Amino acid sequence: MARAREWTTMLASGVGPRRPCSDAEREGAEALRERLLESGLAGVDLTGFRSRASFGSLYGPVLAAAASAGLVGRLSPRLGTGLSLAALAAGFDEGRFGRIGESRLTCHGESRNLVATIEPKGEVVRTLCLVSHLDSSRSGLMFHPSVTPYLGRLSGLVGAALGIQALDPVLGRHRAGRGLVGAARLLCGLGAALMLEREIRGEDVPGANDNASGAAVSGVLASEVAVEPLKGTRLVLLVTGSEESGVLGMRSFLRTTKTSGWLFLNFDGVGGDAPLRYLEREGNAMQSWPADSGILEVMRRIERERPDLGLSPIALGSGLPYDSTPVLVRGGRAATLGVQAESIPDYHAPTDTADRISDRSLGRAIEVGRAVIAAVDRGEADGRP
Ligand SMILES: [Zn+2]
Repeated sequence: MARAREWTTMLASGVGPRRPCSDAEREGAEALRERLLESGLAGVDLTGFRSRASFGSLYGPVLAAAASAGLVGRLSPRLGTGLSLAALAAGFDEGRFGRIGESRLTCHGESRNLVATIEPKGEVVRTLCLVSHLDSSRSGLMFHPSVTPYLGRLSGLVGAALGIQALDPVLGRHRAGRGLVGAARLLCGLGAALMLEREIRGEDVPGANDNASGAAVSGVLASEVAVEPLKGTRLVLLVTGSEESGVLGMRSFLRTTKTSGWLFLNFDGVGGDAPLRYLEREGNAMQSWPADSGILEVMRRIERERPDLGLSPIALGSGLPYDSTPVLVRGGRAATLGVQAESIPDYHAPTDTADRISDRSLGRAIEVGRAVIAAVDRGEADGRP
């Protein structure tokens, strides 16, 4: 636990805010790589990929296009319809982590994933990937503490609005339909304004809980396994870059690595002062995916047998995507751990600093992580009911 605290502080206070594609994000990855090599990992790779600094550079223009499609439509109905359909297509594609959001159109920077593999003592029966992200977010009105409990509902609502506004050619024939399309476009405009507000007035946050703590805890767990390898489970440590700008590190990893049959255990925000939860579903109020039933079964058993760890389930978590979400969307096996009460402590706020990290939370995350790794190695998550 002392090592997890030290690594969390090193990233959050030593390196500081780690905006996707920034020099600090790279420095953080290099510093963590050094710590991991010192603590027994044999090889730790940094793999670069094309990325962007913020999800605002994708969702901002998409929402602005949807919001302005009505006005543009008054000048040229065809252009208005085209704009509104293009916004829907791009929004839908990004909602499922498609290729548009990874293209040169929105990705002008470079980010990297840290990857290390620890082979088991015996024959490889399965692969377990410990995941965390190294980058940190930017604050903004959309992450105000009075808004965060509703983020899942809000992003679901904006997704629905994007769909409704594209139905203008049909709905627009009736008065009530026109009102609905108008309201949907207003909501898209509000979303675009919030994206812009975050770029202009937001500040890059230290990201101690989200997610220096997860990078530290998953790194400590991997170092333990490096010293005492598992029986039949290959352990892969994946510390991603650019999670906060659209889970781009994980998308790049899934695109370039054969991960069929892998289990992913994601640590996102495990150091803040709140109870540790496992997510039963991921996504937002409109669209969500269930976490892997095998890993959930293991979590439920830990919850029953170790009440001292205070582990409990939660649906959706933040209401925004996690690194595990694209795994689930592609039909893979994943689950996420994170601390959360009604909302995540200091979520995407400048107050997410190392001094607010709880030793007890770090200790619990390590214990739960250890228990899940041991159970997976015993084959307890193999059967997929
Ligand atoms: Zn996070």
